[in-house]
Amino acid sequence: MPKTLSFSSLTGTVCRRGKSALRWRRIRQAFAIGFSRQLSTVRTFRKAARRPKPGEVFAVSQDRDNRTFGLEPCLGPADTASACTVSDWLYLHDLDVAVVKDIASACFAETLRDVPKQFSGCGTDKRRVAEIGSLQDGLKQFIVPAFTAEFGHRYDIAGLLSRVQFEQSARNRDGRPSPVDRGEEFRPVVSLNWNGQVADLIALAHESAHIVQLALSRHDPMPPVARETCAFLGELLLLRYLQAQAPDLFGALCRVWSIENGGYLVEDFDLLWAALADLDTPYRYNLNYPLARLTAAYLFDQQAFSLTVLFESGSRAMRFLPVDEMARQTDAIHNSLPSLPDPEDEPLCLKHYRSVGAAALLDLETNSSQAGLGLREYFTDITTHLKDGTVLIWLSRDRAPMGYATWSGTPDREPPLTLHAVAPFGGHAKLHYLLERRHGARAPGHQLAEEIQVW
Ligand SMILES: [Zn+2]
Repeated sequence: MPKTLSFSSLTGTVCRRGKSALRWRRIRQAFAIGFSRQLSTVRTFRKAARRPKPGEVFAVSQDRDNRTFGLEPCLGPADTASACTVSDWLYLHDLDVAVVKDIASACFAETLRDVPKQFSGCGTDKRRVAEIGSLQDGLKQFIVPAFTAEFGHRYDIAGLLSRVQFEQSARNRDGRPSPVDRGEEFRPVVSLNWNGQVADLIALAHESAHIVQLALSRHDPMPPVARETCAFLGELLLLRYLQAQAPDLFGALCRVWSIENGGYLVEDFDLLWAALADLDTPYRYNLNYPLARLTAAYLFDQQAFSLTVLFESGSRAMRFLPVDEMARQTDAIHNSLPSLPDPEDEPLCLKHYRSVGAAALLDLETNSSQAGLGLREYFTDITTHLKDGTVLIWLSRDRAPMGYATWSGTPDREPPLTLHAVAPFGGHAKLHYLLERRHGARAPGHQLAEEIQVW
């Protein structure tokens, strides 16, 4: 028996099936180079405008040779401290925190697919393939034809990718694959450590998609979530091409792609979920990946959607990402939690126990960080909030728990600080509305709109 029994040890997880003991090579990119050079731009920029409009946080700088670099003043390379917060990130993308949380809920409940339909079962193929050959072999044999099939009616993909100057990652500061846009007049640079492995081919598709997107957008920079969506779509284009043209390689590639999917949708989703609880959390580039990965899978299933239009859209890209539609996939989540009885008929202490139970079930459904607490700590936390009147449990019409939230309640703080808010069946916006109403009314148990019941 473990010393401390935690909720996470009790629950299986969903949207996490890719988790594995295998160590996967993560593809991370730093889109701009010379972070120290960026910092002066960051400070100047943030002083001038704390809240840039979407698509306007990008600036241009020059190096000693007067070459132009696309920079993101407050969005630094992966794993570096950032001058920006999650709140800035949401604003930049014109994203509502409730929409992102609902997308996460739909993903956890598997009503939002994280693998395109045509690649269902992808990852079970055990075939291994010999080395792929040189980077140029991989580019010419697979990437160029895969991308040409999608964009070839309007663009010369072979010509476009032949301009790329590939460098070994060792020359890159953090050793990760990364594309560098130096403007239209100069050859783009991609740092990539090529060893002829399947994972390298996926990385090559990803980085090549970045380059194609930059060219098709005529170097009008995309917000990072949209840009990574394009790069992930590039990986899916490669998968689709191999499925038809090279089934052996497809099977092997699919397996690696699935493992990487686990990384983006487990580790990075945990980061994002934690960051959404505190919007002052410093921005990290990894926060873009879960949303971009899911959006790419979703768009790939939409037959009528034009990838060319998205790749061309530059700073307007967010309007082409169906985030609201993805958030609405929570409508299909079945709430199997039991209904709560009418509290009038029961003693108060029983209501408290039921409240702790309802909160625990909601945290388990969400697989939230609270679900990782020890049982005693969890019980103490909720009962303290119950005593202080700083918890709200939202019930459906038939009194099944839909979501709950806790806040720190000091009379002089307006509005109170939300500590934890989960709605595993969707409706984070409604939960937020309930919280606002509750704080406005300042009366625990205040009766709200008829269709919404609060325990
Ligand atoms: Zn990327």
